[in-house]
Order: sequence, then C-alpha cells, then structure tokens
Amino acid sequence: MKSIAPQAARYRKNMTEYVSKAIALGVYLRSEKDKEVSFFSEKLGKFKATLVSGAKITSKFSQHCDVLNCVETRVVYKSRFTVTDVLLVNRFPLVRGNIPMLKRAIMLAHFLDKNMPDSVPDAVFWHNLYSGLDNGIIDFHKHLARLGYDAEHASCFMCKSRNIKAFSFQTQDFLCEACGFKMRGNEIVLNI
Ligand SMILES: [Zn+2]
Repeated sequence: MKSIAPQAARYRKNMTEYVSKAIALGVYLRSEKDKEVSFFSEKLGKFKATLVSGAKITSKFSQHCDVLNCVETRVVYKSRFTVTDVLLVNRFPLVRGNIPMLKRAIMLAHFLDKNMPDSVPDAVFWHNLYSGLDNGIIDFHKHLARLGYDAEHASCFMCKSRNIKAFSFQTQDFLCEACGFKMRGNEIVLNI
C-alpha cells in the first residue's frame, strides 16, 4: 500500500485543513486508483472529498468510509477536498443489524447525497441524523421537514389525500399510503 503521507505533507504547506466528524453518504470510484466520498459533516455540511488510492482493497481509509459510517475526517482543500486521515467513530450497529432499517438508512443517505446543498453546516440536522442512526430511528418526516419538504401541509400528489405516508425521491412529492404502496419501488420510501 502506497502511503499518502508525503502527499498530505505537501498539501499542508498552502492548504486549509479541516477536521470534522462526518457521515459517509455515498462512495464513488473516480479513477483506477481513487475514490470520492460524499460526506455530511458536523462543521462543513455536505462536501465531496477524494480518497487518494481509495480504490485499492488495502486502503484503510476506504474501509472506514463505508456508506453510513461516521468517521472523524481530516481533509485539506485546494480547489477540491482531499482526505488525509480518517478515524472510525461509529458504524451504527443498531441500524446495520436490522436489514429493513438499513435499507431505509441507505435510501436516506442517497437522498441526502443528491439533494442536500453543499457546504451548509446545520447543527440540528447533524444531531438529528447522528442520534437517529445511533438509536436505530430513521425518521424521514423529521429529516425531510428540516430540508424544507413539509409533510404537514402536503397532499398526496396522486389522489390529493392529506393522509401522507410516503415520499417519492424521484419526483420529490408526498404520497398517501395506498398510492405509495401502489408505486413502491427504489425511489419511494414508505412509512415516513
Ligand atoms: Zn394518494
């Protein structure tokens, strides 16, 4: 395994370094060697960072950055973020031990990855997300409301029922239970 330490040292000369707890929302292959991780972090909000050599199976950073893991990240910024260190904080065993809950959590992570604005820290959202994952509660209602999707005043986009129970990630509309069940699939989350 090639150490990234010399590279990190070079970066530190004229780069801003940040340390923050962060939850991995998505992990992507960016080249033969490198991966990119989308994080939601306590201090920086959402950001994407390169994991140099993260595609190698021996990459310790890559192992720590599984989707839904909370890690303490050390990153530097120069035109883009690069990860220079990762410490595993929490793998959220209550969520990982329950397959239906894990599926919901992965859907939530995917939604946040695609729809959260970059670089907008939100201490309340951070607390809600972390404590929910830690306690095995995936409360879409609460998370969506914080992002501006208000289920309280919404009606089903199919039948106009006010009894909202589902949300479509694809169209970003709310649905009642019956319509949500009818349209169920990868992009519909039930029992929000
Ligand atoms: Zn409906």
